[in-house]
Amino acid sequence: MREIEAAVVRGPEEHAVESVTLDDPEPGEVLVDVRATGVCHTDYHAYTSEDIDVPVVLGHEGAGVVESVGDGVSNVEPGDHVVLWVLPSCGDCEYCRSGRPYLCQARRETRGQMMDGTHRLSQNGEPINHFYAQSSFASMAVVPERQVVPVADDVPFEIGALLGCGVTTGLGAVSNITDVDGGETVAVFGCGGVGAGAVLAANAVSAGTIVAVDLDADTLDTMAEIGATHPVNAGEEDPVERIEELTGGVDYAFECIGAPQTVQQAIASLKPGGTAAITGTSNTPPAEIDLGRFTKGISVVGNIVGFTQPRVDIPRYVRMYQNGDLDLDAILTRRYELEELDEAFAALDAGEVIRSVVQFEKGA
Ligand SMILES: [Zn+2]
Ligand SMILES: [Zn+2]
Repeated sequence: MREIEAAVVRGPEEHAVESVTLDDPEPGEVLVDVRATGVCHTDYHAYTSEDIDVPVVLGHEGAGVVESVGDGVSNVEPGDHVVLWVLPSCGDCEYCRSGRPYLCQARRETRGQMMDGTHRLSQNGEPINHFYAQSSFASMAVVPERQVVPVADDVPFEIGALLGCGVTTGLGAVSNITDVDGGETVAVFGCGGVGAGAVLAANAVSAGTIVAVDLDADTLDTMAEIGATHPVNAGEEDPVERIEELTGGVDYAFECIGAPQTVQQAIASLKPGGTAAITGTSNTPPAEIDLGRFTKGISVVGNIVGFTQPRVDIPRYVRMYQNGDLDLDAILTRRYELEELDEAFAALDAGEVIRSVVQFEKGA
């Protein structure tokens, strides 16, 4: 048991950095000294929601160093550098046993707790809720082993933190959900962390045309830097018309923000036989779809987290980064301290950042 610093949320848009107690890892869990954590729309949604059980420590895109391990942990040992994956999984349901931990439903039953229904976080003996069994807006975190992925020591923590959820979702949408080949045409709707991941992955496989659609001019400049061949500002022109002009319809469209309008646009921008991958949030209102499009042989596919297998895919993306095939540095727009979480959320909400991280300075 130890005292740590954590950003404790006590109500909608109400939080403070406080000292809280973190218990030792239970069997199958890992204690991690957190060095960086990505700031994601999923955190922001929870932060502003009336619906989340408080008090809670958010943060689900951590990276750091293993401090100690619980009984039975074999994947990592103290001193290992690790990336913390967003989605808890039980390891034993039909989805987990068939190699699809991203579809594990067991985590839905644990609202604010670890997978065994208990807490590791508390303050003065009162439990504090967890977030995705991670809660990494904190100087240390206890995380289930299945969410802990070892990476090489020379991967910067802030880059590791980018691979814990959003960006990896976009990378997986291209490399796991669809099968984009060199020369094919791609459109990406919404270029935050997920969309940037999709652009990076499409560029890595040498897609012929990569149209990046967003409302922010700076974001579109960055997309051009990381491989988008045609940035399109949806505030200035109709992206579907522009895509039609540029390509006659794309082979693949990636919807990356979870808005009804962009879902419609992604489907409308496909050429006959094309595929739209819907990769937005789970809080999307209903969208109307032109069913006539289906007579053109289009496909619409869903996913969660790009169907990522963290221990397979994250090391693969790390190698691509090290080889210069994934320019993750270009999309890391800002760095904050834990005390500046408010500012980080405000910048995220204003669309000013593609990806930002909270960093914990702890010396060597
Ligand atoms: Zn996230
Ligand atoms: Zn499961």
